[in-house]
Amino acid sequence: MDREKMIEELTKIVGKENVLSSETDLMLYGYDASLFKGKPECIVLPGSTDEVSRIVKFAHGEGIHVVARGSGTNLSGGTIPTKGGIILHLSRMNRILEIDIENQRAVVEPGVFTLILKNQLARYGYVYQPDPASEKVSTFGGNFGENSGGPHCLKYGVTTNHIMGAEVVLYNGEVIQVGGKALDNPGYDLTGILVGSEGTLGIATKVILRIMPKPEAVKTMLAIYNSLEDASRTVSAIIADGIIPATLEMLDRLTIKAVEESIHAGFPLDAEAVLLIELDGLKDGMERLAERIMEICKKSKAREVRVAKTEAERAQLWAGRKGAFGAISRLRPNYLVCDGTVPRTKLPEVLAQVMEVGKKYNLVIVNVFHAGDGNLHPLILFDERDEEELRRVHLAGSEIMKICAEAGGTISGEHGIGTEKIKEMFFIFTLHDIAAMKQVKIAFDPEEVYNPGKVLPETQA
Ligand SMILES: Cc1cc2nc3c(=O)[nH]c(=O)nc-3n(C[C@H](O)[C@H](O)[C@H](O)COP(=O)(O)OP(=O)(O)OC[C@H]3O[C@@H](n4cnc5c(N)ncnc54)[C@H](O)[C@@H]3O)c2cc1C
Repeated sequence: MDREKMIEELTKIVGKENVLSSETDLMLYGYDASLFKGKPECIVLPGSTDEVSRIVKFAHGEGIHVVARGSGTNLSGGTIPTKGGIILHLSRMNRILEIDIENQRAVVEPGVFTLILKNQLARYGYVYQPDPASEKVSTFGGNFGENSGGPHCLKYGVTTNHIMGAEVVLYNGEVIQVGGKALDNPGYDLTGILVGSEGTLGIATKVILRIMPKPEAVKTMLAIYNSLEDASRTVSAIIADGIIPATLEMLDRLTIKAVEESIHAGFPLDAEAVLLIELDGLKDGMERLAERIMEICKKSKAREVRVAKTEAERAQLWAGRKGAFGAISRLRPNYLVCDGTVPRTKLPEVLAQVMEVGKKYNLVIVNVFHAGDGNLHPLILFDERDEEELRRVHLAGSEIMKICAEAGGTISGEHGIGTEKIKEMFFIFTLHDIAAMKQVKIAFDPEEVYNPGKVLPETQA
């Protein structure tokens, strides 16, 4: 369809001010937090489910692709318009519709930032547990699309464990409800299929979330190590002892340096690695559990374990962890965040292999990750103006995914596949596995209206 005509039709649905189409707009919406770029034909900002439905119905009728977008912080190219079309930016749909304390549920529109809901819930002594480090700006639509994780997901589970249901616009504009506030729903688990589908199956226009009372007590510790290997061994030693802390996060030497230079979190500059360990739950028994963790850390050669004595100290340690990705930008102009998961007992050997990959390709790799989940985030540093270096970065990233797969792990812990890791899907899936997933795509979106060129590789099967 002619682009001018398309803009005219979309303007009829959402108004002139909510259709963007200047060259600058097209450039700004052509990238996300990944290394990829594309170019949409226009950007539309709907204000309601009805508008989303009408836009999608129109796009479907005209054979135009639609890419849902929250804040575009995904790290795998999930919002790159690979084949032009419409970017559906859901930022105007940013209302918290309901906080239902009695039933421990919240209902939000997709454009609500994760932290905004958390701040509202704090007033009631409640919490939404998944906490992507990007929570200040990540939206619930994006969390839904990526099945996001975060430090506290070790104990509480990732986004899918906290989404009870949703209102979803299908490829032809029809609106359906999946799941609900109740604990179990008969029929197929469509919520389970849609969460983590990276905007390829449907667009969530309302999300029903599980919320929980804030834990009675919290204890935050920082275990300091002279070796990355000792820190990694501690992770499985704690869990093998039967303790599941709320978080078990690791930062290596270069990350510590970057964090200290910008955030001053109080991490020791001469350490090879630190573990940020947090316990939460009932006050009774917490002291004993903390002592046990300290014993395990010492046995695994921690040179010191510090305990945050005040809420301010705790907040400072977390600012260091949550600001780590941002701080690392000080080291080089760009980085690729790899996201692989391995059985946590394999962490020491896999981390050693990752560092070998860095040497092989002459690239600096730093590590900051959800160690308790075995979810590695090697960040490969580079300068995108150096094309040869960029080529090595892609090769190294792919090799790291292969190492994770061969260690019995997988190629994404939380950041999704997007456009970035499509060919790596074959590291973990057979042609038959991919064919089964394609059947799901066909059932939900037979004409590939939504987010083309994502998640599933081209196959003949
Ligand atoms: C500094 C930094 C730290 C990060 N830390 C973490 C972390 O700790 N854990 C983690 O998991 N991720 C992390 N991420 C990745 C990212 O922030 C998360 O995936 C986040 O949930 C994406 O939210 P968003 O609003 O930016 O979504 P977007 O990037 O806009 O979209 C993500 C995907 O969801 C789809 N989508 C968007 N809205 C909808 C909708 N309404 N319905 C259906 N699909 C939709 C999109 O099409 C896309 O495929 C981090 C990123 C950065 C830059």
